Amino acid sequence: MYAFTDLSLAAYCPRKLYYRWRDAEEYEYPERDGRHELAFRYDALLDPGTELGEEPVAVAPDEYRRALGRSKARVGAFDALVNPDDRDVFLQGRRARGVAHKVLESPLAPSLVSAGAPPPEGVWEPQAVRAVAMAKALSWERETPVDRAFVEYAAHGVVRELELTARRTGQYRRALRTAAGIDGPPARTRRRSKCEACEYRGTCGVRTRSLRSLLGR
Ligand code: SF4
Repeated sequence: MYAFTDLSLAAYCPRKLYYRWRDAEEYEYPERDGRHELAFRYDALLDPGTELGEEPVAVAPDEYRRALGRSKARVGAFDALVNPDDRDVFLQGRRARGVAHKVLESPLAPSLVSAGAPPPEGVWEPQAVRAVAMAKALSWERETPVDRAFVEYAAHGVVRELELTARRTGQYRRALRTAAGIDGPPARTRRRSKCEACEYRGTCGVRTRSLRSLLGR
């Protein structure tokens, strides 16, 4: 049984998952801040009467409201996400468990709220793996198919819908196999851009771009 976040880390860098397990007792998960709550206040944030300058949004107020307006227009379940049927729901699936930030009943789907920035299109793969894990666990609990999940980049006003396609399910299964295969430190990721945002970069033995630039190379 894995945590949803384990699978997300397996998709990001298996070595990072190894470190997280190794340091599990000391690891302190970052606390949620006001950015997370934005995902529960979309109606107010869309209201031109709300002063966005006071809100923890990551982009300029006009840009934020335009992005949120586009999300509302594109995502059929936007209204359901504004008033979710449940929030912070612990889900226990067959292979993974953890918390879904929102659960919708119609369509039946979980949602993951991210404090970070979205990719230009779609969803970052580690977050997609986590969202698929949530959808699989919800499906397992309810004994009914769940064919979609949502990822909300709340501080950017961007909501993305994710269908559980064969490709997405394949990424989730690959993360499960990766986690199951960890038996000692795995190889470092070859995509070193990931290391620059990784809290283990100082001890992992990778040379990140910032260090190279410090050395003038
Ligand atoms: S520093 Fe890079 S290789 Fe090491 S755990 Fe982090 S992401 Fe993986």
